[in-house]
Amino acid sequence: MPHTPSAATTAFLARSPFGLFINGEWSESGDGQSFAAANPSDGAELAQLAQATAADVDRAVTAARAALSGPWSHLSPADRSALLRNLGNLITAHAAELAELESLDNGKPIRHTRAIDARVAARQAYHFAGWPTKISGETPAVSIPNHLVYTRREPVGVVGIIIPWNYPLIHTLQKISPALACGNTVIFKPAEQASLVALRLAELFAQAGFPPGVVNILTGDGPTTGAAIANHPGINKVQFTGSLAVGRTVMQAAAGSLKRLALELGNKAANIIFADADLSEAVPGAFKAAFGNTGQSCVAGSRLFVQQDIAADVTRQLAERAATVNIGHALNPATELGPIIDRAQFEAISGYIHRAKAQGATPVFGGQRLTGGDFERGFYLPPTLFSGVPDDAELACEEIFGPVVTVHPFESEAEVIRRANATPYGLAAGVWSRDVGRAHRVAAALQAGVVWVNTYDMFDPAAPFGGFKQSGFGRDNGREVIEAYTEVKSVWVKTG
Ligand code: ADP
Ligand code: MG
Repeated sequence: MPHTPSAATTAFLARSPFGLFINGEWSESGDGQSFAAANPSDGAELAQLAQATAADVDRAVTAARAALSGPWSHLSPADRSALLRNLGNLITAHAAELAELESLDNGKPIRHTRAIDARVAARQAYHFAGWPTKISGETPAVSIPNHLVYTRREPVGVVGIIIPWNYPLIHTLQKISPALACGNTVIFKPAEQASLVALRLAELFAQAGFPPGVVNILTGDGPTTGAAIANHPGINKVQFTGSLAVGRTVMQAAAGSLKRLALELGNKAANIIFADADLSEAVPGAFKAAFGNTGQSCVAGSRLFVQQDIAADVTRQLAERAATVNIGHALNPATELGPIIDRAQFEAISGYIHRAKAQGATPVFGGQRLTGGDFERGFYLPPTLFSGVPDDAELACEEIFGPVVTVHPFESEAEVIRRANATPYGLAAGVWSRDVGRAHRVAAALQAGVVWVNTYDMFDPAAPFGGFKQSGFGRDNGREVIEAYTEVKSVWVKTG
């Protein structure tokens, strides 16, 4: 393959087999089990990673609890700010290497990881570096005479964070930075399909000056490592991002010790283009919404509602764009869409496509695995467009997590709102219209935690992100995440 990683990345990978990062040190898994990290672009094994057992999770919890009442608790808010700023600086200094590692391990095109993921990760650390000195309580106006009440915002304690494989670098910083800003300690589990960036970040956390035990990074699968985190009574809060099915399991496990919980689960985003939209923006916007990150995104605009008069034209333009997009190895700078993460995910996506075809649906574009040359070594699917699929067909209801969009024509505003909301999910949605009143009306009517108007897939650490309905509860980003990572204590003082 012509796509050779840099010397820094090659040197990092040469340290395989990797261990678990517990209490500021690398250690082996309790039972010596390991698993392979694979490159989705070409199927090559990148490294061997330790599979953390329940006993390893227990060790990490002991370290995190000791750090919580030890050196970490003695740091001032300004000290915590400084450490998070150090972290931002280190991510910035190593951005090229982190971007490359992310592209190698998860198949996201290098042009995106360089321009977006590595920068966003640093920005998250810097944003939350500003928070420790602004977290404060209130003095509620109680009506009981001769009493002063004030509130304190204290850390929740040890936070268990479990993430999926689709945005490892961004998710890691998005979740860990606010947890640390609030004074918590962390047990972090990346997804087994894309863990390498988290292992590199473990070293940057240490280098930034976070005391041992504050951030513990444990690789491993869901049923072993993930379940041990969800079940451990020494963990006070679990922040889980992943599928609805596993989210339910985590919720049940959390009930055992009444853990605090934030769940960010599946979605089936409606993206709505009205006939009065600026199509020069809406069509590329809808393409990116549906197919960005090869559709492997929880906000993918996978149900595209297009007003009747322009539906055929929009569908044709999308198919034209699909025919020219550059698909290939993630390290190729020309690549716009990378591979599917692995065989299991490819088979899940293909299953949806085959069943839709069996029910009579014909793709307008795509629908077949790409073959020949480099495509043989990974699982590559072109952007796949279906039209004429009923709203209640499996393809239009289930989260596919791949490059598949169904186009649904509609007539009226009231009708499209009803159809867009006819899903158990509610994470994100999009509206394209030049009519200001309509845009705000529809944004208010959509049952989703995020609505993008004449734009899509925009994120910022200042803007809350999370789901309505079965897309979960709790929020990342914004003031909301700071509140979610703290407990409020009311202190009553008799003054008279
Ligand atoms: P996806 O389909 O996006 O991979 P999953 O819900 O399967 O979503 O996985 C998301 C994360 O949850 C991964 O880190 C995975 O290892 C973890 N996970 C899977 N099963 C469990 C479980 N039973 N308990 C806790 N975590 C789990
Ligand atoms: Mg991988």
